[in-house]
Amino acid sequence: MVELKYGTLVPAFLTNVSPKSTKRLCLCGVTNSEIPTSWTESFHNNLHKNIYKLRFTGDVHEVDLRTIKENDLSYFIFSINNNVKDEKLLTTLKNIKDYVNLEHGIVEKNVLISSRVTYLAVLPCLKVIGYLEVEPLKTATVKFSVHTIWVAISYKKKNVKTNLLNNLL
Ligand SMILES: [Zn+2]
Repeated sequence: MVELKYGTLVPAFLTNVSPKSTKRLCLCGVTNSEIPTSWTESFHNNLHKNIYKLRFTGDVHEVDLRTIKENDLSYFIFSINNNVKDEKLLTTLKNIKDYVNLEHGIVEKNVLISSRVTYLAVLPCLKVIGYLEVEPLKTATVKFSVHTIWVAISYKKKNVKTNLLNNLL
């Protein structure tokens, strides 16, 4: 066994692997150096415990889907009214909002506000990578007020935020 930095013991043959291929990703899909310095270890562990909440369940009408294909990434964007009756969609919305609140450090009890609309960006594997919650307005000039916007940390530099917001134009 060979001791690496931070005192980790690994079999000797592993230390010959090139540094690039040994770059480990955490459950959030980022390397150690990409983890925000504001995330404490317990905060980060708590995110990992809740990451299952980012899984989309429910049915969406195909006509409502927008497919985004950019470089090596493809995903769907669609909206769900917060007053939707479908139980699976409601659970999905609540779970994702829970996770987003957790990452944003918001401790308020999660209540879906029925007048709002939520836009989701979802990978073909059904993992949610983007969240946009808006309140539709009735004025002619401004149609929506943005309440919350979130993009999964490993997709932050991929234009997901812009693509979500483009739905409001
Ligand atoms: Zn992580």
